[in-house]
Amino acid sequence: MTHPLLSLSGVRVVFGEFTAIDGIDLTVDEGELRFLIGPNGAGKTTLVDVVTGRTRPTSGTVTFAGQPIHGRGEHRIVRAGIGRTFQTSVVFEELTVLENIDLAAHFRLGPLALLRRRRGVTPTVGGVLERTGLAPLAGAPAGTLSHGQRQWLEIAMLLAQGPRLLLLDEPVAGMSHTERERTGELLTEIAADHTVVVIEHDMEFLRRYARDVTVLHEGRVLTEGTVSQVQADPRVQEVYLGR
Ligand code: ADP
Repeated sequence: MTHPLLSLSGVRVVFGEFTAIDGIDLTVDEGELRFLIGPNGAGKTTLVDVVTGRTRPTSGTVTFAGQPIHGRGEHRIVRAGIGRTFQTSVVFEELTVLENIDLAAHFRLGPLALLRRRRGVTPTVGGVLERTGLAPLAGAPAGTLSHGQRQWLEIAMLLAQGPRLLLLDEPVAGMSHTERERTGELLTEIAADHTVVVIEHDMEFLRRYARDVTVLHEGRVLTEGTVSQVQADPRVQEVYLGR
C-alpha cells in the first residue's frame, strides 16, 4: 500500500496582481518518481519553491510525512527531509567534489555542525560518491568538472543531506546523450529508495524514464497520468507539445 508523502491542497500563490499558482491539489506517494511538465510560466518552479519553503503560499496547505510544512523556513524543511537542486549551480568551485558533498551533509545537521566540521568525516559521503559515480573525482576541484559531472555533484550533495523527497529542476538540461543516459539510470536507482519529483522538458527522456507525469498549465494541474496517457491528451498537445 502506498502512502502520500507530500500533499498540496488548494495551494495558491499570488505575486501582486498575478496568480502564479491557482489552486493546486497534488499528492506524491512514498517511493514515486514523478515528473512535472508544462510550458514556460506554468508554475513548476513556483510549486517547488512552495514545497521547499522558498515561497509562502498565499493560501492552501502543504503536508509532508503527515506534518503541515507551509510557512516553515527553508532550513527547517531541509531538516524535515526535503531537498532540491536549482537550475543554477550552487557548488563551491574551489572546493573538491568530496568537500562539497561533505559540506552539504553538514548543512542538514545545522549551523553548529558546519562550525565543527572536519574534513571528510561524515560517513555517508563515501557511499554517496560511489552511488553517483563520482568516487574517481573525489579530489577534483568542482570548478574543473564537466557540465554533466557538475549536475551529478549537485544530486550527490542532495543525497548527502539524507532527504526522503528530492526535487530536481531540469537535471538533464544541456547534457550530452551519454550523460542523459547516465542521469536516467541514476534517477531510477535513487527512486528505488527515495521519493523523487523531477521538472523536465525533454520528452525523449520522459518517454524513457518517467512513470507518472503531472502536467501544469497556467498555475493549475491540467492532467496527470503515464507518459503515453498525457502525450495522447489533446489538451496537453495543445498547450505543451504544440503539435
Ligand atoms: P515555470 O517554472 O513553469 O516556467 P514559474 O513558476 O517560474 O513557471 O513562473 C510562473 C509564473 O509566475 C510566471 O509567469 C512568472 O513570471 C511568475 N513569477 C514567478 N515568480 C515570480 C515573482 N517572484 N514575482 C512575480 N511573478 C513571478
